[in-house]
Amino acid sequence: MNDVRQPIVRFRQVGKSYDGITRVVEALDLDIYEGEFLSLLGPSGSGKTTCLMMLAGFESPTEGEIWLGDTLLNTTPPHKRDIGMVFQSYALFPHMTVAQNVAYALTVRRVASAEKAAAVKRALDMVRMSEFANRLPKSLSGGQQQRVALARALVFNPRLVLMDEPLGALDKRLREHMQVELKDLHSKLGLTFVYVTHDQSEALTMSDRVAVFDAGRIQQIDRVDSLYETPGNGIVANFVGDNNVFVGRLLSLDGERGEVGLPDGGVLAGRVVGELHVGDTVRACVRPERMVLPPSGAACAPAPSINVVRARTAGTLYFGDHVRVRFALHGQENGFVKVPLGDAGWVQGHAGDELVLQFAERHLRIFS
Ligand code: ADP
Ligand code: MG
Repeated sequence: MNDVRQPIVRFRQVGKSYDGITRVVEALDLDIYEGEFLSLLGPSGSGKTTCLMMLAGFESPTEGEIWLGDTLLNTTPPHKRDIGMVFQSYALFPHMTVAQNVAYALTVRRVASAEKAAAVKRALDMVRMSEFANRLPKSLSGGQQQRVALARALVFNPRLVLMDEPLGALDKRLREHMQVELKDLHSKLGLTFVYVTHDQSEALTMSDRVAVFDAGRIQQIDRVDSLYETPGNGIVANFVGDNNVFVGRLLSLDGERGEVGLPDGGVLAGRVVGELHVGDTVRACVRPERMVLPPSGAACAPAPSINVVRARTAGTLYFGDHVRVRFALHGQENGFVKVPLGDAGWVQGHAGDELVLQFAERHLRIFS
């Protein structure tokens, strides 16, 4: 789909150093497509905000180019970029009313007052804050202030809306509510959203595509389902979603299929990702929801020898809609499986009980 569309933003070999020594963003190439909801996801310090600030014009690249359409942005000042920005801290002007805050970008752009009033009303309607137009920010809740900040970013019909952890200061319930609102607003307006977050579930639920950042580089950029199902390396696999990780040695390699020997003698087979050699120490990863307890009565079926993990129950965690059964395996970090409540026989499992788990070969990915 993406190959026929023209990107609206292009980062080309962009690097950034604040101190002239270390690069916090390195050789970054990134295409952003018109109308998409793209998230930049990664741990704290991985360079997400720096990228957003370079796009908004509050920081400049040390090397490389950033293009918005046909305009080279490197030397374009922020207010000429046609980009709306929402900060985590809201950054509303405390002495201005809600309406004046939202009008600010239009005042700076010398928009005539009748047109300005109409645009402010439209933007406040969009975020359902019209009735608060004459209030001061300090009389609003955090969620309401964030809505005003959003209206302020949308009011001048920007080509691009950037948001840096905009929901970070809200409590969980309100955050989840706002995630749905933002997603709805995005599809209604058809604007291009670039959204920074360190919260992988937030990135997965809201975005069309996610760019996973680590140490100033994009590790993978993909549609959310591909990112989850086919992570391109161990960093992505472990940052996006949960994983059970088994460390072992690569015993054999046949095309993309590899077999991993575990210290306890078990053998796991799956798909090798990246360049690996027989004898390498590897990490075999499988999602918790892909590991199952064999169906009851399976005792009489011939026991498969590959992709069976014989572990010990280490405890259970009750999640309301499912139970997580934690397991311990000699020489490995503890893992867990998700058991739907319908099968909650497992709630009665005792710590130390043997737990036999299995999974299909296609669900195991082997990384360096
Ligand atoms: P993220 O948003 O992913 O948490 P940042 O882009 O804020 O990451 O930061 C990346 C790195 O750059 C961090 O090591 C951070 O300390 C450093 N950094 C960010 N902003 C500045 C700045 N204004 N001056 C110096 N170093 C900075
Ligand atoms: Mg940041």
